[in-house]
Amino acid sequence: MIISDVLDQGLVNAKNVNRFFFGSGAIQRLPELVLERKRVSGLETVVYFVDSGFADKAAFEIPGLDSVDLVIPISTEFEPTTEYVNHLLALATGDGLTKPAAVIGIGGGSTLDIAKAISNLLNNPGRAEDYQGWDLVRNPGVYKIGVPTLSGTGAEATRTCVMTNKSSGLKLGMNSDYSVFDQLILDPALTATVPRNQYFWTGMDAFIHCVESLAGGYRNPIGDTFSSCTLELCREVFLSDDMQADRNREKLMVASYLGGSAVGFSYVGLIHPLSAALSVVFGTPHCLANCIVMGGVSRFYPEACDEFQRMVAKQEIEVPQGLFVDLSEDQFDNLYKATMMHEKPLINALGRSYGQTLTKDLVKQMFKAM
Ligand code: NAD
Ligand code: ZN
Repeated sequence: MIISDVLDQGLVNAKNVNRFFFGSGAIQRLPELVLERKRVSGLETVVYFVDSGFADKAAFEIPGLDSVDLVIPISTEFEPTTEYVNHLLALATGDGLTKPAAVIGIGGGSTLDIAKAISNLLNNPGRAEDYQGWDLVRNPGVYKIGVPTLSGTGAEATRTCVMTNKSSGLKLGMNSDYSVFDQLILDPALTATVPRNQYFWTGMDAFIHCVESLAGGYRNPIGDTFSSCTLELCREVFLSDDMQADRNREKLMVASYLGGSAVGFSYVGLIHPLSAALSVVFGTPHCLANCIVMGGVSRFYPEACDEFQRMVAKQEIEVPQGLFVDLSEDQFDNLYKATMMHEKPLINALGRSYGQTLTKDLVKQMFKAM
């Protein structure tokens, strides 16, 4: 196999979000968007997926909610599984409900990903697991609007929606141009209630995506520029005295959007495969897992790890340490296997011979150092 079969990034025909509002209070523009979609489609209802943790904490009420609309609360106790997405699809299509004029996701990365997946499944037959992979979605989804309430994953900008299939152990999204939102409302006022640790962990996802992209072998001048801007914004936010000040929440929302836009031009690197292994084997949430992994990868990303530790210290954030010192050989084996299955990012980070660099012993040492 030649390398371009696996990582063909020669010329990217990039797909971005069609339109977005940005600014404090932008959520008030939602009713006009919804009315316009109902008018254009001739359909009467819309479906809202709303992150319950956010709605409770922020006492959030959907502006312009109509009694014919369907509101489905999203539990973020666990990150999205194919099983949960299938269950939500049944709720959105059950009891003679007609197809909605729009699907609207309001919440963190988990809720945004769920909205994207349901939008695709409403116009494509089958179940969520049928579309885990690259370019398997055949028809454009139902018009989708994303409203992030937590900044960092870039899920608002990307062409994927990550889901774990518990029966196969596969953590993979519907990578498709059809997974990109048609419209975003980027309102930094909505992130005011995010707890400190969560704000940092998720914000760091943007930083880490861009560190990995810029250190990788597959590059693109536009992607690199998005990544550099994202890193600069993250430094300004996380090395400041009040990372959650109004101005910093605004900056982090921009960083998240740009970081998500950057990912489409490149791949992540070594940190995400190790982090995905923690999520699959132990159920660790994605962004916390990334932060834990930063404790074990300094030989590959020395400067970024130093910077990360300075930010953790400055913000006095809790990142658990020493969790994997006493694991059994079986557990290390599972972590190793779950890491090594991420061929594309590992080639991006270490080249085609990544299997020789990343021996089982080295992977074990890295987990022990976290
Ligand atoms: P999340 O959506 O899982 O939410 C984390 C917690 O924050 C939840 O308890 C939620 O209720 C709470 N929360 C969200 N907004 C809040 C607010 N304003 N106030 C108070 N609490 C709030 O977390 P996340 O880190 O944003 O998303 C993680 C998910 O994103 C993972 O499933 C990961 O795989 C996925 N992801 C997707 C992409 C993509 O491109 N699609 C990229 C990276 C990660
Ligand atoms: Zn990530």
